[in-house]
Amino acid sequence: EDASWEQKLRSQFPIVTAHPELTYLDSAATSQKPRAVLDAVATYLTTSNANAGRGTYPWANRTTELVERTRERVKEFLGDRQPERSTVHFTSGATEGLRSVARDWLVPYLTDGDEILVPFGDHQANLEPWLEAARSLRQRGVDVTVRALPVQASSGDYDHRALARMVGPRTRFVAATHVHHVYGGDMNVHRLRAAVGPDVPICLDAAQSVGHLPVRVGGPDLDVDFVVFSGHKVMALPGTGAVWARNTRGPALRPTGWQGTPNTTGIVSLLAAIDWLDEAGPERIARHVTRLATRLTDRLHRLDSYEILGCPASLAVDSALPTAQRRHGIVTFRHRDIPSDDLGFILYSHGFMVRADNLCQAGADEMGGAVRVSVHVYNTEEEIDRLRAVLDSLA
Ligand code: PMP
Repeated sequence: EDASWEQKLRSQFPIVTAHPELTYLDSAATSQKPRAVLDAVATYLTTSNANAGRGTYPWANRTTELVERTRERVKEFLGDRQPERSTVHFTSGATEGLRSVARDWLVPYLTDGDEILVPFGDHQANLEPWLEAARSLRQRGVDVTVRALPVQASSGDYDHRALARMVGPRTRFVAATHVHHVYGGDMNVHRLRAAVGPDVPICLDAAQSVGHLPVRVGGPDLDVDFVVFSGHKVMALPGTGAVWARNTRGPALRPTGWQGTPNTTGIVSLLAAIDWLDEAGPERIARHVTRLATRLTDRLHRLDSYEILGCPASLAVDSALPTAQRRHGIVTFRHRDIPSDDLGFILYSHGFMVRADNLCQAGADEMGGAVRVSVHVYNTEEEIDRLRAVLDSLA
């Protein structure tokens, strides 16, 4: 049953089926697009392309409608049960989404003496904007302290106990990551709310979780104020992303100034992508990508030449483990003797496209590179087995 589901979904990705000699294993960087998304874009551009929110003629109205419908669909997809209390802003990706939360919302919100907690070991897109916000405030004489969100060395999770001790009356904001883009682990952000108390806004970088596992905001599991994700990693076109913002804790995100023409084709592609992912089933996708990642880590753990990042061998992945130790479709490793960029070239000579560099991890330049394998719904067990055979031969 699983194999036929796998094949059925895989067959819907034209770029994948057109290149049987190649294996795309870099979905954490960007995803491939199913035909439904390509068709939706072509249909839009050939039937009703116009600017949004301007016209008094049917194409313009249709465009406005599609943009508004996408906003509603983003809320639904994120399990938002109180859509009247949230807003969705379209951005060019997660980087721009995090920047806009920092620039348009955090800067006006903070006052002298405030403290913010942000991740220093996650994606650099989830560090720079907060540092920049603090710098620009300081230039205006508003002194804001930036502190590192504490991490548990053993699991890679945020250390919610240490966090609870760090939170004080001046703590005004926390930024966190849902699934780590290097380690692939769920950072157990559901514990953050309890640690920071009910009043501190939390911004979640969900670039690696949306589209890979069910992300449901609002409930006790994910009581956060901002969810930032990237459309191009969830099957939509490049240059697409969104910020979901809750309006009830602190002021809503306020886009500043004249908004200009939105990326309507990107937004239309996001609408089709969300419909497609919903139909495929986020729970099922989550099981699939975890299974493939587990198949790879199980093998690498047995080979002394490889070091898997962020996952001690004693935690060898198995589905009985808590989510923190599970791999949401991402496995990053190094070879003891082969430099990571060379390993990247060797793997490509066998048709495997992987990421091999510093992976945009904040502070990672000193750590040397690594190879990251990241899968999505169009990857198969057979591909992972072929990769395992190549990695075996290099061990
Ligand atoms: N945050 C995380 C966790 C990511 O993995 C990425 C993409 N590598 C980004 C942010 C940046 O996303 P985008 O490419 O959409 O700007």
